[in-house]
Amino acid sequence: MLFACPICGVSFGPSSRYCPHCGEFEAPINQRIGFLELKAVELLDRGFDIETIEQLLLDEGVHATDARAMLEDQRLQLRRIALSTGIKRVVIGICLMSCAVYVTWLGAVLGYMIVGCGAFVFGASFTWSGVLNIVSGREREPCSFE
Ligand SMILES: [Zn+2]
Repeated sequence: MLFACPICGVSFGPSSRYCPHCGEFEAPINQRIGFLELKAVELLDRGFDIETIEQLLLDEGVHATDARAMLEDQRLQLRRIALSTGIKRVVIGICLMSCAVYVTWLGAVLGYMIVGCGAFVFGASFTWSGVLNIVSGREREPCSFE
């Protein structure tokens, strides 16, 4: 979506609150809210804390009540996704580890023990990443400001 500044005619995207040319014209917030919501989701998913994102939204001109409602909604949604991903990872990880034990036993007989050991380590790390998902409520690892 593009906005056209009525003062100087420059068009600009939803990432800018004000016209980048004259700085006078403010893009209507109700038409930028979709973009800001996507941005908030992305930041949440990347591990930024709620307060930081809320402040960013306020700086962008979002009303405090709207910002809070938006974040609460998204946070719950992300938590649900992280939980289901985490459970899947734990289940798959445990399956992998059990298979690995069998493969190691079989491999020991055939002289390919390394295959089973590799699979076991992979299964264990998968299980662990699932546990982290469940505990942190996040799909990905938290990260700091770039
Ligand atoms: Zn302008």
